[in-house]
Amino acid sequence: MLYWIILIIVLAIFFGAHSRQRKKDAISLERAKIDKMRTCPLCAELVQLNAKLCRFCQNELLPISNNEMEEIELNYKIKIESFDPDVLAKKQDKERKIQSKKDWNDNT
Ligand SMILES: [Zn+2]
Repeated sequence: MLYWIILIIVLAIFFGAHSRQRKKDAISLERAKIDKMRTCPLCAELVQLNAKLCRFCQNELLPISNNEMEEIELNYKIKIESFDPDVLAKKQDKERKIQSKKDWNDNT
């Protein structure tokens, strides 16, 4: 009887770790799928960051400026975070703290 209990506990731990790993894999897969994209100034379609020619309108694309790059990085970060439940939870927690601080300030 004890043997079975131990076996079940071991299996539960094993499968728990396994499913956590799978969740992590799924997140990194989503990350890999999201490419850093830029918008074509002519047709406003999303094209690959390193593209020199727009694949929609064949417009020649100029190299990315620093400002553009910053914007792309920012958008990328926001996109990535939307896939990560841990980061999302932390963000919501932070927002809640800011909100409660704001409420406190409003009341005083
Ligand atoms: Zn285009």
